[in-house]
Amino acid sequence: MSVKHLACLGGEPAFADPLPVGQLYFPDWERYEVAMRGIFERQYYTNHGPLARQLEARLEVFLGVKHVVCVTNATIGLMMAAEALELSGKVLTPAMTFLATPLSVARCGLEPVFCDVDPVTHHMTPATLEAALEPGVSAVLGVHLWGSAADTIEVQKWAEKNALKCYWDSAQSMGCETAKGLIGGFGELEVFSLHATKIISAGEGGCVATNDPDIAARLRNIRSSYGAGPAVSVVKTSNGRMSEFQAAIALLSLDDFEMNKANNIALREVYMSELCDIEGITLEPLHGVIASNAQSIVVRVGEDFGVSRNLLKDALSAENVLARRYFWPGVHKVEQFMRQPQWNLPQTDQLNEDVLALPIGSRVKGEDVGTIAKLIREIQRNGAQIG
Ligand SMILES: *Cc1c(COP(=O)(O)O)cnc(C)c1O
Repeated sequence: MSVKHLACLGGEPAFADPLPVGQLYFPDWERYEVAMRGIFERQYYTNHGPLARQLEARLEVFLGVKHVVCVTNATIGLMMAAEALELSGKVLTPAMTFLATPLSVARCGLEPVFCDVDPVTHHMTPATLEAALEPGVSAVLGVHLWGSAADTIEVQKWAEKNALKCYWDSAQSMGCETAKGLIGGFGELEVFSLHATKIISAGEGGCVATNDPDIAARLRNIRSSYGAGPAVSVVKTSNGRMSEFQAAIALLSLDDFEMNKANNIALREVYMSELCDIEGITLEPLHGVIASNAQSIVVRVGEDFGVSRNLLKDALSAENVLARRYFWPGVHKVEQFMRQPQWNLPQTDQLNEDVLALPIGSRVKGEDVGTIAKLIREIQRNGAQIG
């Protein structure tokens, strides 16, 4: 494709249809139809049905953990997790995350306390945790982003040293592996999202993985007022059940995982070669993993690019390239979570200003990446006119 005239300067958009940043891998219609027909024939629609049970068993193998509890979405999974762990007071978590992380804490009547992240890896470290520790903190809620991973073992050791529980928002990390093991088996438990934007999708969905049978039993009793498995005493029940429809889609998505991961990795390689010579644009490497789902393409837009990150985002949007600022505004700038004196999180502030996620996933083809790179070059070349 030849980029003749940028859309932000009055030209036609380079893409007729919007290119999103989410994964959006869905099974083809024929397989979907067979799965849905099975549900209607069994007339078993929800409440820990055969497909939900099958999905849990398969995810236990896939994640290498003893227990997987499937839930409606990761946000409620995180809320159920805080209750299953019987947390109190404050929960220490990185501000470099999606809003659902601190929201899950606040919705359980707990107070999120934010720590900063390492500028190179974008993840929390024992040093950033140490700097943010304050009285009243009962747990650490770690976060993995982009298909990279925090140093699970070091964070866990630090938590233990401070007598804190440690659990993980691994919403983006399905199928990632660190040198110390698969994401899923660390801390007290890990919560994954099966949202449509994530690599394994139920449309909406999530699951909690743990090796602790007591935590798993509590989660199963919190998930539904009907319970599932042996009854154990929990403070509150809820409705976090996964329907058979969600489980059916997730099972097909799990079958496709290797193929979709390979597609992500191939796209990532095209991005690497296309973006490497654009001044001021740096594709973030994957950190802390020996195998990644390559969930996100994250670039940092430096001053030497010549056009601001926000103007670049707007100019790409005009071309139907729906680049996203991750995360904007930072969760510590959201009214509900602000406090006085203001959070002092310079690395997170910097990343919130610099980072841009570019399209990857089912809607993106290799040649689209070439077009996106051309557009970025063109936007840079026309910087003076754009702003
Ligand atoms: C997607 C995501 C969530 C929320 O997952 P849902 O299934 O949509 O509730 C939470 N945390 C992070 C880091 C995410 O990326």
